[in-house]
Amino acid sequence: MGIIFSVKKLAKYFPVGGKTLKAVDCLTFEIYEREVYGVVGESGSGKSTLGRCMLNLVEPTAGEVIFGDEIMPMSELARKSPARMKSLRRDMQVVFQNPNSSFNPKMTIGRALYNAASFFGLKGGGRDRIHELLDYVNLDRSVLSRYSNALSGGEMQRLAIVRALIPSPRFVMADEPVSALDVSVQAQILNILGEMKNRFGLTMMFISHELTVVEHICDRIMVMYLGAMMELGPVEELFGNPLHPYTRALLDSRPKTSPDEKKTREMLEGEIPGAVDIPAGCRFFSRCPDAVRECGEIPPELYKVTDFHFVACHLVRDTVGNN
Ligand code: SF4
Repeated sequence: MGIIFSVKKLAKYFPVGGKTLKAVDCLTFEIYEREVYGVVGESGSGKSTLGRCMLNLVEPTAGEVIFGDEIMPMSELARKSPARMKSLRRDMQVVFQNPNSSFNPKMTIGRALYNAASFFGLKGGGRDRIHELLDYVNLDRSVLSRYSNALSGGEMQRLAIVRALIPSPRFVMADEPVSALDVSVQAQILNILGEMKNRFGLTMMFISHELTVVEHICDRIMVMYLGAMMELGPVEELFGNPLHPYTRALLDSRPKTSPDEKKTREMLEGEIPGAVDIPAGCRFFSRCPDAVRECGEIPPELYKVTDFHFVACHLVRDTVGNN
């Protein structure tokens, strides 16, 4: 499998009241072609800022992102090339949490979709492609003559998926795509997103604050906390053998499927601290039930547990060792 995204020492800092908020702090990872890569963490962990840097929507403070042949942040010269910008927009699409933000409420859905198809130069104005995609998301073609304010959140998110797929992108980023939807329609949208990789042969990154949402969709998952990677591994490994205390706490905070199900580990308590004063040692120190003195003084490195499983925790280093 080739690499489609290479993220190298990526950082995004924001000045806040004379201090520095480290939303993303020196992240390095790769996404393989045709995989679904999950990024999970509580609100404030930096996952959406990471996504925006990768989509070239936000300029990073340091580091770079390589997508195919394109290196971001792009040079001034590249930014001024309409052909390169159009090619990037065609290849990288995004589905946001709020689908209404992608549609002009004064424009019919049909007009919005045909405008997108025309921008990317689809044959016949993109009619066949749009019809094919409406069928894929199970929407009747009558939706084309309607306006966004007359449609439900679930219908609008299906249309946001249609819009993202119109130019046949190589990569789709889904940023909390179901968190604003009723529970009753979340599963339908997740099924549609889950089938996209195989149906359209694309690569996806799926951002969520809930591990349960990504469990059945992703191939690998990166757990983020305060702008840094805590654990990365294949989905079976992360759910079957979670090693970082933060990953275990996220798993514990999942809604229980039965009242008899016992809580076997500690629940995640309190809010994520601000990313302005990152602790000197482990970022999870203030909330970690397993912390020892070393944790407050020395930041843990990313330890390799298996070829594909990495964990940033001193205890894991001591119990599993650095393979
Ligand atoms: Fe907890 Fe220490 Fe591991 Fe950090 S390094 S997660 S504080 S045990």
